[in-house]
Amino acid sequence: MTRKKQLEALHDVIRNCTLCPLHKTRINAVPGEGSVDSEVMFIGEAPGASEDETGRPFVGRSGEFLTSMIQEIGFSRDNVFITSILKSRPPRNRTPTQAEINTCRPYLEQQIEIINPKVVVLLGGVAITSLLGPRKVSEAHGQFHEIDDRKYFMTYHPAAALRFPKVKNRMREDFQVLKQELV
Ligand code: SF4
Repeated sequence: MTRKKQLEALHDVIRNCTLCPLHKTRINAVPGEGSVDSEVMFIGEAPGASEDETGRPFVGRSGEFLTSMIQEIGFSRDNVFITSILKSRPPRNRTPTQAEINTCRPYLEQQIEIINPKVVVLLGGVAITSLLGPRKVSEAHGQFHEIDDRKYFMTYHPAAALRFPKVKNRMREDFQVLKQELV
């Protein structure tokens, strides 16, 4: 099976997943989208209302901002891969529970394995803590971390950047650091 087909098959499983209680309240599971050949993969927290409605990742205001940041460093949504820690929306966008993160995690691990990107970008505290252990975004942002030959880059969640102009500037600077790694 080609890697593309492997990814499609995995996404079909995710769309029908009932492993945690979030499947009862979601409209659509949101596996993620982009190229299987992506050099860079972006991981957010969980789908929000727009993502739940459309089944697509980062399509609301945060998504527009993330898309503009991706374009600023010379990529497009078509040649990166975008997903989140959880694939189904928590009710009222509450923070994911550890049990939900643990249950959903194998899907993300399989996506990373199939795509095998050069850099995995963790957007915000939930993504960073879920994959690298607890740390403050304000201290960790703009830095790389390597585990098991996999390179991770830590930055803010786009929603935080939209709320706080200072965070927006820091996130822009972080993306320039990321760009240097990807050239
Ligand atoms: S959040 Fe993950 S584990 Fe829970 S139902 Fe959705 S896809 Fe399945």
